Amino acid sequence: MSDDRLITSLTNDTVKAVRALHMRKQRDATGTFLAEGLKFIGEALDQGHAPRLLLVGQDARPHPLLDRARAETTKAGGEVVLVTHPILEKISRRENPQTVLAVFQQTYIPLDQLDASRSPCWIALEQVRDPGNLGTIIRTADSAGCGGVILIGDCVDPFSVEAVRATMGSVFAVSITRTTTDAFLAWRERWGGSIVGTRLDASAHYRSVDLKAPALILMGNEQAGLTDQLAAACDVNVKIPMRGRADSLNLAVATGVMTYAVTDALMT
Ligand code: SAM
Repeated sequence: MSDDRLITSLTNDTVKAVRALHMRKQRDATGTFLAEGLKFIGEALDQGHAPRLLLVGQDARPHPLLDRARAETTKAGGEVVLVTHPILEKISRRENPQTVLAVFQQTYIPLDQLDASRSPCWIALEQVRDPGNLGTIIRTADSAGCGGVILIGDCVDPFSVEAVRATMGSVFAVSITRTTTDAFLAWRERWGGSIVGTRLDASAHYRSVDLKAPALILMGNEQAGLTDQLAAACDVNVKIPMRGRADSLNLAVATGVMTYAVTDALMT
């Protein structure tokens, strides 16, 4: 028998506060975000992040990871609550919700504290707008061994429910930084390795350039591409060949192709 507080009302204040995390305004105000599923929570715990709030469905099956999540949440000063299935559905906006949800603190690494020596490959995104693309890119950055993702300008929130889902738990495995274009351009002068822009009008083939680690790959917005201003700040701009009728690759796919080309070149 658990001693956790049981919530059954859809209008409970805690339930309302967690549901509000679907809105960016509320995520920004609280500096928190909603994550779903025991796998995600396990990844977070492995990276040293305990939930502020752990919501356990009444029908959640016993699992050693769930015991660990309960223990680490409580130890870190967070709260564990039991909730009904309709509450899980309401919070996650899904008919088949995960049986465990959690609220975590957002973590951003300021640009001037970014430790470039952590990896030979980093990714910067200019005005990324699609949460699925951003989450997929964060997952790809983690998979390839990149140090982190830098968000330049007006980007979608990496801690939106949709972006976090697409990261599949990688949101804590790489550092996430947000900055303005001007701050990025000033900081860029201190970057010791190659900065590689990606443009459809570039002439250099994406695998043909010599790179100095740490390399920073710059990707453009889904509609407008990489701006002239940022392309001009790169050491080189490259293109992935488009051999069929499509005029460009999806942003997340192009980032994946670039990231593995760069990490294959710089990591042995
Ligand atoms: N209409 C946009 C343009 O002209 O750039 C298309 C943008 S594309 C959907 C989004 C981003 O993916 C681009 O800014 C670039 O960073 C990257 N990208 C897509 N296809 C690419 C390719 N063939 N070569 C290099 N980068 C590419």
